Amino acid sequence: MSSYILSIDQGTTSSRAIIFNEKLEIVTIAQKDIKNYFPNPGWVEMNANDIYQSVQEVCLEALEKSQLKNTDIKAIGITNQRETTIVWNKKTKQPVYNALVWQSRQTAALCESVIRKGYATTIKEKTGLPVDPYFSASKIRWILDTIDHGQLLADNDELLFGTVDSWLVYKLTNGNVHITDVTNASRTMLMNIDSLSWDEELLSIWNIPKTMLPEIRDTSEVYGYTELLGCKTPIASVSGDQQSALFGQMCFEAGQCKNTYGTGCFLLFNTGDSRLESNSGLVSTVAWKIGDNVKYALEGSIFVAGAAIQWLRDGLKLITTASESEELAESVADSDGVYVVPAFTGLGAPYWDEKAKGAIFGLTRGTTNAHIVRATLESLAYQTYDVIDALEHDTGLSLKSLQVDGGACRNNYLMQFQSDILHTNIIRPTNFETTATGACMFACLATGVYNSLDEFKKLYNIDRQFSPKMSIMHQGKLVNGWKKAVKATREF
Ligand code: ADP
Repeated sequence: MSSYILSIDQGTTSSRAIIFNEKLEIVTIAQKDIKNYFPNPGWVEMNANDIYQSVQEVCLEALEKSQLKNTDIKAIGITNQRETTIVWNKKTKQPVYNALVWQSRQTAALCESVIRKGYATTIKEKTGLPVDPYFSASKIRWILDTIDHGQLLADNDELLFGTVDSWLVYKLTNGNVHITDVTNASRTMLMNIDSLSWDEELLSIWNIPKTMLPEIRDTSEVYGYTELLGCKTPIASVSGDQQSALFGQMCFEAGQCKNTYGTGCFLLFNTGDSRLESNSGLVSTVAWKIGDNVKYALEGSIFVAGAAIQWLRDGLKLITTASESEELAESVADSDGVYVVPAFTGLGAPYWDEKAKGAIFGLTRGTTNAHIVRATLESLAYQTYDVIDALEHDTGLSLKSLQVDGGACRNNYLMQFQSDILHTNIIRPTNFETTATGACMFACLATGVYNSLDEFKKLYNIDRQFSPKMSIMHQGKLVNGWKKAVKATREF
C-alpha cells in the first residue's frame, strides 16, 4: 500500500497543504491566501486564528481533492514562516495579540536598548544571531509590554508563546502538545545554539519566563496526533521553512547551498556538524536535528525579494501579474543604469541596517516602466550576490553552484541574470515545492517510509541549469553600480 504524507506549508502570504506520494510526487495542492495587517509604518501583523483556520481549510480541501481516504495519510509534516511570534492564553487557547510577523519592526527601540546595555556580543555568541527585531525574543517582550498586565499573566504561568509551528501543533492537538523544533527555536534568540536548549541568561536579558516556552524537540519525530482529518494522524515533522527547503533541495552535505526566492530571499549554506561563526553579517542557524545527528547552516536573510515584485504590481501598478515582469524586463536591452534598492523594511544580511529605506537611482528622461521592472528583478540577484560575497568571505570557499527554489525562481530572466552576476551555475529543480518537500521528507524519516538520506537522492530532478554568459568586466561594472546604490541608500 502507498504511503501519503500531508505537508502543511504555512507562509506569510498563504497557507498551503500539499499531499505527496512516497516518490515525493505532488498528488494535490490546496492554497489559501492570508491577510497581513500594517497598523503602523514598518509593522506587519497577522491574525493567529486566521492562520490556524486557513491551515484547517487547506488540509481538508487537499484531502478532498486527492480523493484519498483520511487513513491513507500516514503523517502530517509542518513547515512554517519562522520568527513570527504568537502569545496565547493557556485557559482560553486564544491569542492575546495579533501574530507579530518576522518582517515587523515595532521592536526596533527594544532591540536598541538591549544593544545599549551591552548584550549584543553575548547574544551573538549564544545564539548566532544579531540583535534585531526580526527574531522572536523582542517580539515576545513587546507583546508582554503592550497587553494589559502582560508580565503578571506571564509570571503567573497563564500565557504561552510559540512560533507558528508551536501554535499549529497546539491547536491541531487540541492544546495537548506544546512543542517546537530546533530549527524554529534557533530563530527565537532564546535558544543556546550549542546546547540546543533554552538559555537562562538570554531569558533573563529579555525578561521572559521559561514557563511560556514550548519544549524543544527534533525536526523529525512524532510529537502527537491530530483528529483534523477525522481520524488519528501523527504529526511527524516540524521545521522552519528555510531549513526545510535546504533539506528538500537535498543539500545534505557540508558545502551545499540553496537560495529561496519568495517574499524574501533566504540563502542557506550547510556547514555540517559544527556551527560556523560569521564575521560578515550572516547568521548561524540549526539546519536540522534527526536523532543525534545535528546539522548547522550559515544563513543570509534578505527581507524584500518577491515582495518587491508585489510592490511593482500592487503599489506602482506597473504589472498586473508577477510573471509579467519577465517579458517586460526582456523588452529592453538593459536596465539603462537604473538601480532599485528595495530596502522597504530596512536591509537584512549582510548589512543589518534597520533604518534603511528603499530608493531608485539612475533615472533619466528615457527611463520607462520596463527599466524599473528590470532593475527591480535585478535587485533580487544583487542582494543575493551580497550574501554570497559574505559567505565566501566567511568560509574561504568559492561557490560552484547554487540550487534555487521559491516563487520567483520561475523567472528565467532573473535566473540568467543571477548566474551572470554570481558567475556561478544556477540549478533549478523540477520540483519548486522544496519547502513542503522537506517537511514531507522529515515526516517520511520519522514514520519509516524512508530510512536514510541516500534513498532520497535519486528523487532529485533538474528542470534547468543557467550558466554565466556575461563578461566578467561587465559583471564587475554592474556590481560596482549596485554597491554605490546601496551605499547612497544607507547614507540618505
Ligand atoms: P512565500 O512562500 O514567501 O509566500 P512564494 O515562494 O510563494 O513566496 O513566492 C511568491 C513570491 O514570488 C511573490 O512575492 C511573487 O511576487 C514572486 N513571484 C512569483 N512569480 C514570479 C515571477 N514569475 N517573477 C518574479 N517574481 C515572482
